[in-house]
Amino acid sequence: MRRLIVSAIALALAGAVASPVVLAADAAAPSVQAVTGTTQLPRNVRPSHYAVSITPHADKLAFDGKVAVDVDVLEPTRSITLNAIDMTFASATLTPRGGKPWTAKVSVDDQAQTAVFTFDKPVPAGAYTLSMTYAGKIGTQANGLFAIDYDTKAGKKRALYTQFENSDARRFIPSWDEPAYKATFDLDVTVPTGLMAVNNMPAASSKDLGNGLTHVVFKTSPKMSTYLLFFGLGDFDRATTMSGDTEIGVVVQKGHVAQAQFALESSKAVLAEYNDYFGVPYPLPKLDNIGSPGSSQFFGAMENWGAIYTFEYALLLDPSISTQRDRQGVFGIAAHEMAHQWFGDLVTMRWWDDLWLNEGFASWMASRTTAKLHPEWQTELDNVDIREQAMSRDAAATTHPIVQHIETVEQASQAFDAITYSKGEAVIRMLEGYVGADTWREGVRRYIKAHSYNNTVSDDLWHEMDAAAGKPVSTIAHDFTLQPGVPMIKVVSTACAGGNTTVQLEQGEFSKDQPNKKPLMWHVPVTAQVGKGAVATALVADGKGTITVPGCGPVVVNAGQGGYYRTLYAPKEFQALRGAFAGLQPIDQLGIMGDTWAMAMAGVETPANYMDLAKAVTPDSVPQVWGEVVDGLLGLDGYYRGDAARQATFRKFATARLAPELKRVGWVPRDGEPAPVKILRPQLIGALGSLGDKAVLAEAQRRFDANDMPAELRKTIISVVASNANAATWDKLHAQAKAETTPLIKDELYAMLSTAKDDALAQRALDLALTDEPGATNSAGMISIAGRNHPDMAFDFAVAHKAQVDKLVDSTSSARYYPGIGSSSFDPAMPGKVQAFAEKYIAATSRRGADAVIANIKYRTQVRSERLPAVDAWLKKNG
Ligand SMILES: [Zn+2]
Repeated sequence: MRRLIVSAIALALAGAVASPVVLAADAAAPSVQAVTGTTQLPRNVRPSHYAVSITPHADKLAFDGKVAVDVDVLEPTRSITLNAIDMTFASATLTPRGGKPWTAKVSVDDQAQTAVFTFDKPVPAGAYTLSMTYAGKIGTQANGLFAIDYDTKAGKKRALYTQFENSDARRFIPSWDEPAYKATFDLDVTVPTGLMAVNNMPAASSKDLGNGLTHVVFKTSPKMSTYLLFFGLGDFDRATTMSGDTEIGVVVQKGHVAQAQFALESSKAVLAEYNDYFGVPYPLPKLDNIGSPGSSQFFGAMENWGAIYTFEYALLLDPSISTQRDRQGVFGIAAHEMAHQWFGDLVTMRWWDDLWLNEGFASWMASRTTAKLHPEWQTELDNVDIREQAMSRDAAATTHPIVQHIETVEQASQAFDAITYSKGEAVIRMLEGYVGADTWREGVRRYIKAHSYNNTVSDDLWHEMDAAAGKPVSTIAHDFTLQPGVPMIKVVSTACAGGNTTVQLEQGEFSKDQPNKKPLMWHVPVTAQVGKGAVATALVADGKGTITVPGCGPVVVNAGQGGYYRTLYAPKEFQALRGAFAGLQPIDQLGIMGDTWAMAMAGVETPANYMDLAKAVTPDSVPQVWGEVVDGLLGLDGYYRGDAARQATFRKFATARLAPELKRVGWVPRDGEPAPVKILRPQLIGALGSLGDKAVLAEAQRRFDANDMPAELRKTIISVVASNANAATWDKLHAQAKAETTPLIKDELYAMLSTAKDDALAQRALDLALTDEPGATNSAGMISIAGRNHPDMAFDFAVAHKAQVDKLVDSTSSARYYPGIGSSSFDPAMPGKVQAFAEKYIAATSRRGADAVIANIKYRTQVRSERLPAVDAWLKKNG
């Protein structure tokens, strides 16, 4: 699954890009714990095959189901328990192989999400078929089987899709809905003739029943987990291409296949790359990517085996609005979901404790493959950003280890967070660097081969990796996956002798909110480099280390930025690096800026160090480094919110820093310019618009009024205009949103309405979100986005209208959704409000998201009061 991507532009305008707030969190779990498989269902019965028949009634938002499950009863039992929710049973029987059916009494437990089938006398061990007829519901948010209504030039349409991860297959089939219960599936559906039905497998037969309905039977799936099953139905078009023996397809609303062409071609290239990398060819006959209008607060795409589901904003490219960033997003998300076809679908974590095996790996594989197949995008420089997302979350006391104990469905949902994805990815990158890329691939191949069609825990991977590497990778891996937190490597001193530099290192721990914490200990693979000399490596253990680097001069520790740790330089070493900053590798410039920002905000070093670096960036620095300056300055600007006089002084400096860069880059995209420039341009325009730069505001308004907006800038220009809108402009945008018939554009316009800085207009956006107008899956996002500029207003509004808002949020997101709305507040009352909300509405075992938001508000408030004075002082001296 790919986590939700909120419009980066909307966030940039709200000044929330730097140090992103990551909402999911878990209670502090400082102790190292053993990994054990777990389950909520009794282990006495195992399913092996499901034969499922579904008849959807889209107009009534209901469906009829029939399922026959082949099961093995492992010991005599009076009852069989499986997962089911929001369904009613008409009948249930248990038939021994070759015997007469036993009738079961069904009782449903909504709280436990189970159905229990009880028998008059004990059922002996043996092979049976459990047959059930039942009726279920079609939702309007992305859980279970759900409907998406969308506009087209030919009027309103309704399509159906399924979304089961983490625990919603039980809304579609009464089932053993846990990843370790793998089985094969036969799905057949009775659907309106003329609509396209899609499953993980191709259709085996399709028969027009003559009554307006068609019966479609799909081929038997391979053995897989329930959460990977997929069914979609709608007025679709499908385009295909071949990659070896595999048919690659895109399935989108009618008339839109041209917009999916890039995704189709990318998927073809990625499949060939993965077949080679994993050493086990993709095992299904086809691989579709199904595009859907709308959105979810939980995810952007889902890796159903053979039938990836992706929201249109992450799959389609529209020539009138899509950008270079969108293009890279389409590629990266397809690459992520396709990596899951092996890591997740073919080999699956035994239980949600090891979710990172799916998500960390797919994230890493997508980044690696994007950089390999599109070197011209220079996405390897984004790795620093990914690490920052993880460390920002991981340095708070509310963090958790990558591998964590999960008990409830809600806890499993909350595990889809920056630690699982981004820390997982960063740690894999570090380990790959430690053993070498070829050895790492060899370990991955061994692991996939050994565990195909089965389930694993993390140690299964480390076992194969140790064997491939011939050295204990697992020692380092355990340190970074079983304990939480961010190591801090301190460069204590450097000394040059005989043409080599000897660097003394100490290991501490970087914490944002526990300054006096006793550091945990890690085995840390450290790299260091002087100038363009050879990179030296060392393993820091027991808190100390020495590394000898060829050459003399300023030393970069964590050279290449592959390590998951922060680097704190002694003052003399930092000054030397600052002096040499312009000549450093771009990736190291980014890493040093990220470390300095984080440690300056946490009070580990002075904010003046960050400001010095922001000033040291030169016109010929690469666009990504300028992007980092944009993020840092916008982050600081966000801290000044509500303090107009000091903010004006800061903005004078920030504008003077960024405006000349925009002048260099220009407003109009040039043919053949590098991809990173295409990405930097909207960043600069958005930032300067956010900082209130008069020239940018005027030019954005002029282009909006004249409808003179190149596709690459359209979203940015509208964002600048929308966030600074007066009532007349807002009304004009609203009218455009209402009239728009392309969902990809329409959804974006409604999101923009929520970016208004003006209180009254933000209130109008909130009110609008509660109407049917924006579409059932757009409204929750509108409220969240309004919360970026107006956290207090939006949070109070959502809580006051909770009954209505609940219907706008998928159940997998709800425990994080409300606290997240208030997360950028500086109101001292907000932590108490979030706490009160959590105590009233969120189960005690699922309050980690709320705890993280509370901790983050307190942290940001502290940064504002304790760090900004040093920025003020720096501005006075240097501004
Ligand atoms: Zn994923």
